[in-house]
Amino acid sequence: MTTETSASAAPEVHRETLEMDVLFVGAGPANLAAAIHLQNLVATHNQTSAMKLEPQIAILEKGGAIGAHLLSGAVLDPKALAELVPDFKDRGCPIESEVLDESVMFLTEHTKFAFPIVPPPLQNHGNYIISLNKFGAWLGKLAEEKGVNIFTGFSGAKLLTEGKRVVGVQTDDKGLDKNSQPKPGFEAGMNITAKVTVLGEGPRGSLTKQIVKQFNLDADKNPQSYETGVKEIWEVPAGRIKQGTVYHTMNWPLPQDVYGGSWIYAMSDTMLSVGFVTALDATDPTSDPHFNMQKFKTHPFVRSLLEGGKMTGYGAKTISGGGYYSMPKLYADGLLLTGESGGFLNMQRLKGIHLSMKSGMLAAETIFEALVKNDFSEATLKNYETKFEASWAKTELFSVRNFRQVFNKGLLFGMVRAGLQIVFGGRLLKERLELKADHFHMSRLSRQHRAKYQAERETFKFDGKLTFDKLTDVFESKTMHEENQPNHLFITPEHIADVCNSRCVVEYGNPCQHFCPAKVYEMNVADEKTGAKKLHINASNCVHCKTCDIADPYQVITWKVPEGGGGPVYTNG
Ligand code: SF4
Repeated sequence: MTTETSASAAPEVHRETLEMDVLFVGAGPANLAAAIHLQNLVATHNQTSAMKLEPQIAILEKGGAIGAHLLSGAVLDPKALAELVPDFKDRGCPIESEVLDESVMFLTEHTKFAFPIVPPPLQNHGNYIISLNKFGAWLGKLAEEKGVNIFTGFSGAKLLTEGKRVVGVQTDDKGLDKNSQPKPGFEAGMNITAKVTVLGEGPRGSLTKQIVKQFNLDADKNPQSYETGVKEIWEVPAGRIKQGTVYHTMNWPLPQDVYGGSWIYAMSDTMLSVGFVTALDATDPTSDPHFNMQKFKTHPFVRSLLEGGKMTGYGAKTISGGGYYSMPKLYADGLLLTGESGGFLNMQRLKGIHLSMKSGMLAAETIFEALVKNDFSEATLKNYETKFEASWAKTELFSVRNFRQVFNKGLLFGMVRAGLQIVFGGRLLKERLELKADHFHMSRLSRQHRAKYQAERETFKFDGKLTFDKLTDVFESKTMHEENQPNHLFITPEHIADVCNSRCVVEYGNPCQHFCPAKVYEMNVADEKTGAKKLHINASNCVHCKTCDIADPYQVITWKVPEGGGGPVYTNG
């Protein structure tokens, strides 16, 4: 019997079934690389084998177009790309620039200190500045040319399981109103069944979260740890920076106990990718990744690059930064996890695209063997892990296996311990340093109230030229959602009443107002006499970063996929 992993609020409807052999959920670099590599392996096999393979392969993508929801810095290490598409330059891979110059800087409020040399993990010689959304669109075109079916505007709403086996995905219903009742033109989501389902949903994927819990895939692992990256695209006057320049900064304006830092990448002499990363294990409930980004731009060095320019794009995304010990079990019956859904990201290098692509290629090799054997059991799919453990991806991730853990107490303490790890090959006194889930780090207002940070936030003046409030930034993300649909930021009515509007007000001061970089959560006065406030959710502002699902101290917010096609439309993501 096929069961769905969560109860549907939608009415009982007839659902069409579409049978596939391989179903990829999420069209990021991991799954696109997987689909291309799998088709290459099948084509090579069919040239020499009498037993031809003709697998039906589909990719589901919730964005309205391939790449629309992809966001990153991004500097690409081309190692995996060169394995997948050796002639990538000749085939029109969209590269903005080679990295030609780079610096790492330590910022204080008024000045900067450039490191005399770029620390080896941050060196980018031979790497490329790209736009991840253009890169994703290019990979998608290659996949389509190889016969992969790509369904854009379709979300994976539920996993279909039979006992301990994943057998496919139910796509989102289209045309439900905010009470989950059908509107005119309602179309029920279909059940897409597959011999193997590959979840490459990026960080904190909604289906990945369900199945990791249901199948206990994180047993004996560290929990995943996340950061939120906030990014703006800037057009600046010529003469300020040279194409191919890469800057990373650390320290200011973050409080001493918060991990994070910035990037500035010159895609051209006049177009910059500017971003700021804030860890979600901050103790301060008022920690605000968007504010940190705005304040960062007021530093004299950054101001000198941007002032007089124009901000033309905005986005935000979480980063799966926990490393090797936070990777869940990557396989189950009928299931593989790829990319950041599987924790493939090197936080020390601030890079994950090459690791995501490699994970997809290793998944493809495993699926190819499963197709030949016609066996998609856990015993066969376990080879994915074996291949990973023998790959350069494992070597890279294992060498920095304790990196993120040592920054739990902030930047300076972490830098010393991270330096020692480089000396000792990735270990300190213990082989594996533990990690607590991010939301456990948040302190209650009564115990730790950071008056200085909060006062700065509350008095900060967004000038609309260099610095922008959340709504102005969200406008530049081009995010759109159908207004009359079920709220995809799901909190039960009981939790809204008992937690959000009561306990959280006094215990944490409703941190969702601060950590969401899109002003989705607001506490509005509901009773003029008492001043009592109630939570209001502006779901249509959401840029799908998943910060709320991770950082909520009570874990009562569940990010669900909205109607497919909704969300940001990144063009230089
Ligand atoms: Fe990110 Fe959640 Fe805000 Fe959407 S509602 S932008 S997922 S924090």
